[in-house]
Amino acid sequence: MSHEDASNSEEPIQLEQMDANFKNVFSKVHGGENIKRCFTCGTCSVACPVFEVEPSYDPRKVIRMILLGMKDEVLKSKLIWMCSGCYSCQELCPRDVKITNIMAAARNLAVKEGYVPDGIRGSVEQLEKYGRLLEVSEFENNMRTKKDILELIETLPEINGILKNTGLTKLIKEGGKNE
Ligand code: SF4
Ligand code: SF4
Repeated sequence: MSHEDASNSEEPIQLEQMDANFKNVFSKVHGGENIKRCFTCGTCSVACPVFEVEPSYDPRKVIRMILLGMKDEVLKSKLIWMCSGCYSCQELCPRDVKITNIMAAARNLAVKEGYVPDGIRGSVEQLEKYGRLLEVSEFENNMRTKKDILELIETLPEINGILKNTGLTKLIKEGGKNE
């Protein structure tokens, strides 16, 4: 992402930059409904395999940032894109906060606000071009056949149909206005 990630900044957050209504807006977004239930027990952080290898990603911290109204810091942050979607936190949370869904809701909001990481933009462009994240040419298919692996079939029209009908390509292309 070309924009600055303020989530790990040591700079104090200015009160006037906080959005007190963000938690209310967020709790109305699909996936964010239970966010206000969090009582900061930390079970999600302990359960999270990403936190174990990358301490800057702490799901409890992301939830706290949302509840405190740190809208820009959350939506610009690379943290919300680090969740692997493993659901370990969601299964163990004593308050049914549905953290995995919250991370997805945060990413959806971020894209709507124009914060699209370069990697995500690149992936969508690859899908649009090849129908896959990687090009599979005749060469690769010949190699697969030689190794007795099924050839991959053409998926480009179907994938482009999905990208168009879901509005994903448009959203990603229009995204980045805030970068
Ligand atoms: S496990 Fe649930 S209640 Fe505990 S900090 Fe995480 S989200 Fe909050
Ligand atoms: S779903 Fe995301 S936040 Fe939850 S444990 Fe897995 S990686 Fe961590």
